Amino acid sequence: MKLKIIGSGGMSIIPSSFCKCKICEEARQKGGRYERLGPSLYIDDIKMLIDTPEDIAVACNRQKISEVKHLSISHSDPDHVKGIRIVEKIGYDFIKEKGTPISFYALPEVIKDINYMNRDCLKYYVDVLGCISVNEISHIEIDNIDIDLNNNNPSRNITFYVIKENEKKVIYACCNPKPFTHNDMYFDADVFIISLVSDDGILNDGTELKDAPFKDGIFALDEIIQMKNYYRIKKIIVTHIDEIWGKSYGYYNELEKKLDNIFFAYDGMEIIV
Ligand SMILES: [Zn+2]
Ligand SMILES: [Zn+2]
Repeated sequence: MKLKIIGSGGMSIIPSSFCKCKICEEARQKGGRYERLGPSLYIDDIKMLIDTPEDIAVACNRQKISEVKHLSISHSDPDHVKGIRIVEKIGYDFIKEKGTPISFYALPEVIKDINYMNRDCLKYYVDVLGCISVNEISHIEIDNIDIDLNNNNPSRNITFYVIKENEKKVIYACCNPKPFTHNDMYFDADVFIISLVSDDGILNDGTELKDAPFKDGIFALDEIIQMKNYYRIKKIIVTHIDEIWGKSYGYYNELEKKLDNIFFAYDGMEIIV
């Protein structure tokens, strides 16, 4: 199974518009892995894209994604949805005014949330442009790939993906993983890709996470290590690396050398299991 992190950033990209912080300035200067676009994952085996942050069209060009046959969106937050217009380029011919629908998959409650938050955009793409076909689904089987969609948090409807090919298993917990809901499916994963981890609890402006209003939704590094041990996970990859953590690609590159099979994503990272 081959996957690619298309975007490893969080709710704002790095460099963030107008921002003069040292992380953004360094990213402008160095480019490459120092830059992060919005959170998304591509399953190369089945040409499936998970999530459409607002910069997804640019991100797909950068990562040389030439085909998307299947699309899923994890939840209705803008940093995962606002690039949904990419379906127009995938499934609609504006010269012939003809749609060729691609398959869209999500949990029923997530489809409802996306329509509610985005003026019925999915209904528009089905009924007017005909560029997607919507599957309300919690289990997907395409070729050799088998995907379970788990709602990690029924009060916010956040999908975690359990992606399997034969004995190989990758979990994509792309946003809001805390509070974390236990599921037996997470045991013995080859790779667990998890979001929203602040390694040292110090934020970009020098303040501490423990004083921030969003502190309860963020994992600390030792909680991730505990999770890795409890679920016997071979490798953890931290993604959705937010600008507000205030850490650069160079910082994470050094940090991961001190950790046991915990890595930090970058745009274009390939995951082969
Ligand atoms: Zn910044
Ligand atoms: Zn997010």
